[in-house]
Amino acid sequence: MSDRSKSYDVIVAGAGPVSQTLAIDLGRRGIQCLLLERNATAAPWPKMDRSNARTMEFYRRIGIVDRVRALGYPPEIPMDVFIVTRLCDPPLAMLRYPSVAECRLQFAACRDGSLPLERYQLVSQNKLEPLLKEVAESTSNVTVRYGCELVDFAQDDTGVSVLARSLDGSEETLRGSYLTGCDGGPSTVRKKLGIKLEGRGGIQEVCQVIFGSKDLYDKIPIGKGRHYNFAHPDSSAIIAQACRTEFTLHASLPPETDFEPIIRDLVGFPCEIDIRHVVQWRQHLLVAERYRDGRVFLAGDSVHLVIPTGGLGMNTGVGDAFDLSWKLSGVIKGWGGQFCSMDMSRNGVLSACATVTLPGGPRLGYRSGDGSSTPTFATTLLRAPRCARRSQLPRVSIIVACTICAASSSAIAMPVLAACRL
Ligand SMILES: Cc1cc2nc3c(=O)[nH]c(=O)nc-3n(C[C@H](O)[C@H](O)[C@H](O)COP(=O)(O)OP(=O)(O)OC[C@H]3O[C@@H](n4cnc5c(N)ncnc54)[C@H](O)[C@@H]3O)c2cc1C
Repeated sequence: MSDRSKSYDVIVAGAGPVSQTLAIDLGRRGIQCLLLERNATAAPWPKMDRSNARTMEFYRRIGIVDRVRALGYPPEIPMDVFIVTRLCDPPLAMLRYPSVAECRLQFAACRDGSLPLERYQLVSQNKLEPLLKEVAESTSNVTVRYGCELVDFAQDDTGVSVLARSLDGSEETLRGSYLTGCDGGPSTVRKKLGIKLEGRGGIQEVCQVIFGSKDLYDKIPIGKGRHYNFAHPDSSAIIAQACRTEFTLHASLPPETDFEPIIRDLVGFPCEIDIRHVVQWRQHLLVAERYRDGRVFLAGDSVHLVIPTGGLGMNTGVGDAFDLSWKLSGVIKGWGGQFCSMDMSRNGVLSACATVTLPGGPRLGYRSGDGSSTPTFATTLLRAPRCARRSQLPRVSIIVACTICAASSSAIAMPVLAACRL
């Protein structure tokens, strides 16, 4: 590899939500960084939709919280989660979550510091990523390059040389004092470092069906919500994306399935359904052996993969990004010490991953920082009809536990998940 271009403080591989927030925060701290994304544009289809309270606090810190909220669910829209047989049938259980507007009133009235400043926000990943890209591109000290893939790298005592390939096939060598691999689950950076993932991989194959409908949301008779989980053997769920004219169906069915009749059956009333895209994804509960090797750091899905029922993948990764950002910045500016704390967060992620959402696993309860969510979880299940309690309880309880995790206002880093007997 020959070094022939400018040297950066940090080269960030990937332009998912984790690397974008890392680059923005580094730039704001005066750190010269280069962000490399192999794709030409941001991902077109929705994936994550739940930004938790802590992520929204981070977005506030970098000055974009209002712009993120403007792309997401309007503040007055209910955030409830339903467990149903069909969208036209009475729900088996309903988890009530206050809208963002209700939370604001509640938080404003609280003077004892026990509630966060920001509340959660539903915002589709395919809306969030273009915003983060725009912000990164306009942040001082940040250079953003799409269509530029990290192919290889080598580190020495003073930095890291990165071999990058552009979409036209041309290659160049770039130099940074540090490299961060935020390049997702299949992470090239992690693999080249020989760092293994531990835990359970490939637990379930799931199909995500993205479909549009102008009238579905308005016609739902059982109440407006963000997630409708179906008590079905194929574990299906319909998620209303922020615009409420785009939806995702998640189901353990093969991608060649004719999904329109399945969606029509789950909905149970006539409405427009326009299937736009089908993509398969896998559920994993994995965490990397290490988050660091010398001058190379890893963050986000490259080091931990969780089942998204709890809405924790990106939120955890954004936490990694801000943690890494101030530490890198401290060391680069000369006031930081050793990077000895970089692996500390790993154990918490691993233990939470190991116990949650396993099909047939223990029934799970959730305890937020102040323990307040546990009664809601138990109460909701006890209120569910008997048939649901008898036949669907393991699945229902898992869904409820995970949705509480996702919506918790006090999910500061990772939530505390505890096995509980119901
Ligand atoms: C259906 C679904 C729903 C989800 N819902 C939620 C949710 O509600 N809340 C939540 O917190 N999380 C959720 N998640 C998880 C969330 O989507 C991920 O955790 C998040 O995208 C991880 O972000 P990342 O930046 O680490 O990685 P990614 O989003 O995977 O981004 C990695 C980027 O790196 C690029 N890249 C890869 N290799 C290279 C290379 N060699 N060189 C340059 N670029 C490269 C990729 O093209 C990609 O753009 C969900 C996931 C799924 C599948």
